[in-house]
Amino acid sequence: MTDASVLRDFTQPDELSDLTLVIGGTPLHVHKQYLAEWSPVWRQMFLEECSSPQDLHEIAMPDKNLQEVTELLHCIYSTQKPISDANVRFLLELSDEFKINRVKERCEQFLKNQECSLGNLVIAEKYNLRSLYKRCMEHAKTKTLEELDSSVECKKLSQKTLLKIYHDKIEMLRDYSKDLTQKDRQTLKDCDTLKMEKENMKRSLQSIQVLWESPSKRCFRHIADSAFNYSCADCNEKIYFEVRKLCGEGQHLRRYFPKQLDKKSST
Ligand SMILES: [Zn+2]
Repeated sequence: MTDASVLRDFTQPDELSDLTLVIGGTPLHVHKQYLAEWSPVWRQMFLEECSSPQDLHEIAMPDKNLQEVTELLHCIYSTQKPISDANVRFLLELSDEFKINRVKERCEQFLKNQECSLGNLVIAEKYNLRSLYKRCMEHAKTKTLEELDSSVECKKLSQKTLLKIYHDKIEMLRDYSKDLTQKDRQTLKDCDTLKMEKENMKRSLQSIQVLWESPSKRCFRHIADSAFNYSCADCNEKIYFEVRKLCGEGQHLRRYFPKQLDKKSST
């Protein structure tokens, strides 16, 4: 619908147009009743401008920009031109001035679909766009102090909004610091547990290691030897049995490699 050919040409009157807005010498032919429905400000203006609204045929708008007002008219007439980067700023200003809430809401929706920025926060504050304001405030508190201090946009914000940004920022950092303290405590606890497990593991390994040094764990022929006889099949068999016994209950395996053990037992 943005094609220029389907857009209404307001410089040409139609059978029902009963009012001209004159901007810089150019007449824009519009419909009183229609505009009045969109804007309470216009409605008031039409009623107050002259004693009988029927006699009102022309309103001069010397301080307005022809292209911008035309764009606004395109947005409220049935052509419903879409809001864009090119028109959103002045459409907001005009719809705010003439209280054309439906256009204002469309502008806000358009800005809400954009990435949050300090620039949009300035706009949200200026035109009292609450939903956009809230969203951009969430974004603003994530900026660094340096970014906030050096931002030109921040200088356009009210003291109240600035204070709220810094306040939210402090709160966010406080939560973050609480979170870190908690994590730190948990890490210390985990560290203690790991130390204990490491000691237990060492003990288990040592108890296996001493098997080769204990004469009672050898076969009867080598029970009196000063060292383990690795070439004796019976001694090796006995050691194998002892190691199996230690591992048999699988306590240390379950404790240190629980996941691997689960996998084995399930396959
Ligand atoms: Zn032996």
